[in-house]
Amino acid sequence: MSTAPDFRPTWAEIDLAAFARNVDAIVARLPLGSRLIAVLKANAYGHGAVELAKQCRAEKVAMIATALLEESLELRNAGIDLPLLLLGPLTESQISIALDHRITLGVVGPEELESACRVARDRDISIHLKLDSGMGRMGVTESELKRVVEMIQSTPRLRIDAVYTHFANASNPSDPLTDQQIAKFRQMSAKIPAPLYHLANSAATMRGIVEPGDFVRVGLSLLGAEPLDVAPALSRHEPPGEAALRFEPILRWRTEIVRLKELPAGHAVGYGATFRTKRPSRIATLPVGYADGYDRLLSNNGEVLVRGRRAPVVGRVSMDLVTIDVTDIPDARFGDEVTLLGNEITVEELAKRTGTISHEVFCRISRRVPQRPSHSWRYGRYATTGDASLRSA
Ligand SMILES: *Cc1c(COP(=O)(O)O)cnc(C)c1O
Repeated sequence: MSTAPDFRPTWAEIDLAAFARNVDAIVARLPLGSRLIAVLKANAYGHGAVELAKQCRAEKVAMIATALLEESLELRNAGIDLPLLLLGPLTESQISIALDHRITLGVVGPEELESACRVARDRDISIHLKLDSGMGRMGVTESELKRVVEMIQSTPRLRIDAVYTHFANASNPSDPLTDQQIAKFRQMSAKIPAPLYHLANSAATMRGIVEPGDFVRVGLSLLGAEPLDVAPALSRHEPPGEAALRFEPILRWRTEIVRLKELPAGHAVGYGATFRTKRPSRIATLPVGYADGYDRLLSNNGEVLVRGRRAPVVGRVSMDLVTIDVTDIPDARFGDEVTLLGNEITVEELAKRTGTISHEVFCRISRRVPQRPSHSWRYGRYATTGDASLRSA
């Protein structure tokens, strides 16, 4: 599934069937006439964009969106034939390449629109035009609107297929900014005739803030992560947080114990000797590190699952290695499968522990981590070792 060779005892399992179920579940939530734009930028947040795109059928998914030209081209070159939306921004030379590959531009402002209009002297272009309804990042602002309308009117070969905007804080239902953005967008977009609008990301879509007929741009929810700002439980003993609005997680990040040793009390573990054993301890080493995207902020902070039980990360996370304390899991063995992310270790937990959001936790999982279909454990070596509780999952 990825370019990495497949012999590492550290891997990400991607459940393609669960992804397809998540697509169905999102589509089922949409109002009449609304359709899904699947956002698979940044290699589908580290999940493997090509494999996920292959699961997207035209009846369910109207378009696939990416951020970079390279990402759209990777999908086209892999034979993905669905309409592609490139959020951009793009330079003038990139625009021509995108058009050659039937990629729709998500033009983000007057500068890019100017480039698009120049290209449209020689060929037909259809674009989605982004408005800034309040986020202050990309999009045409209110003061630029008049000039933008003039540019569109004087470029007969440029067609506006859609007008769109992006919410700054839809993950927080109590922020009035989202409603203000909707009102501002309706007011601004009335000046640009277009057959289609799209505003909602995962959070807005899961909250049902979608007008009939509007498309939605959903990334995170397709991966089964929680798009709203709800506090995750950091252990199985904590009560679950507020009403969660999430589907099935589709990624499990696994590794194996590759070293298991007994250390006496008072022994240092890892760089900087930031951990010292307080008792005679069993310390296991895992072949994964921050170069794989296992965040160094999980040093003396993260937890992993061994034989269905939580084991703490002790000492610093190294580039290629992580040490965990399995003293309280006496049946832990050399070769045991270990879950870094998946089952009760949620992406929301890792995000909370590392002071970031789920999007970033996923994006950090590097291309060095090979991806396998989720049923791999049924076969070969993975059937003989590891976490019994996961077998039935
Ligand atoms: C990334 C992105 C999305 C998807 O956001 P999620 O929170 O993953 O649903 C939607 N729209 C734009 C413009 C984006 O950049």
